[in-house]
Amino acid sequence: MTSGKARSAANPRKRLAILGSTGSIGRQTLEVARAFPSRLKVEALAGGENKELLLEQLAEFRPALVASLVPLGEGELAHPCLWLSLEEMTTHPDVDLVVVATAGKAGLAPTLAALRAGKEVALANKEVLVMAGEIVMAQAQAQDVTIRPIDSEHSALWQCLEGQRGEVARLILTASGGALRDLSPEQMEEVTPAQALRHPTWSMGRKVTIDSATLMNKGMELIEAHWLFGVPLERIGVVLHPQSMVHSMVEFADGSILAQMSPPDMRLPIQYALSYPERWENPSLPRLPDQATLDFRPVPPGRYPCLELAREAALLGGTCPAVLCAADEVAVERFLAGGLAFTDIPQLIAAALGRHRRVGHPSLKQILAADAWSRRQAQAWSPRGDS
Ligand code: MG
Repeated sequence: MTSGKARSAANPRKRLAILGSTGSIGRQTLEVARAFPSRLKVEALAGGENKELLLEQLAEFRPALVASLVPLGEGELAHPCLWLSLEEMTTHPDVDLVVVATAGKAGLAPTLAALRAGKEVALANKEVLVMAGEIVMAQAQAQDVTIRPIDSEHSALWQCLEGQRGEVARLILTASGGALRDLSPEQMEEVTPAQALRHPTWSMGRKVTIDSATLMNKGMELIEAHWLFGVPLERIGVVLHPQSMVHSMVEFADGSILAQMSPPDMRLPIQYALSYPERWENPSLPRLPDQATLDFRPVPPGRYPCLELAREAALLGGTCPAVLCAADEVAVERFLAGGLAFTDIPQLIAAALGRHRRVGHPSLKQILAADAWSRRQAQAWSPRGDS
């Protein structure tokens, strides 16, 4: 590889902490780290429930700092390491960049801790900005840290905005439409978890795959984009683009639109977040073919109620997006467990939002209280309306 001349002995390896290393984004982050051993050092790993995989990762990368949701026994580790909480890990002096690839609200406190400590942060955990965008962005600004988005859409927007000084007219998020985009409304009611989990273009974790089928994922991305780039919600649109090759677009004041294209492979946005402002040649990443057809069409009104709920919650602001996130998480769990119909997901979320007493400019404590309240509502909700 020839493109690494800028990084020299005076510019040593970037030391990474990867939170959520056994999840889909965590595993792909480690693939990127494996491809660039002279540029990236895995200093810290925090794993979830998959103990076996975490042990494999620890044996391969030998990080000095470790955190795990499940206890690891004495003698299970082949090398000496320091056991830390997520917050101790993200603020540790030996860590330069924190990759937040946890799920749900687990990433919130460690992200804030990392920002407070002035660390570089690469963020894959959507809920962090959806739940607490105001607090997180204020913390990033106070420390003059640019949050590096790992979501493919936000990486695309970030790349399109880089170096541009013109006024932004619109951010345009692309959506594949998910696994169920061609079904009729009647067929939607009968959808099984297995069907909804079959995403046409991306291979991802279960929660985000269901969120892609409902377009809740796109709704959360709308909120993320608003916070990351400071663009008002009414100037952020969504278009359906089934090929998932254009990852998002920016329209400027003069009508010019810049788009970012690449095959649907999360390793590219992950790598960009780690290499920024450089670009590294990675032979294991796929390239777009010379021949491709790109389709764009508007989101059919009424077809994706979760997208509309997300936009409503975003406009209401305050604690509403946290309520949306928590209700969605419970709804998706209940759907995957066979306890709810696919079309119950938006009903449950709408019921939680409808009952919520919004708090404006909430503190972290108020956000977490709204989250807990929403989860209780969502667990108790019944499609027959008897809760
Ligand atoms: Mg995305």
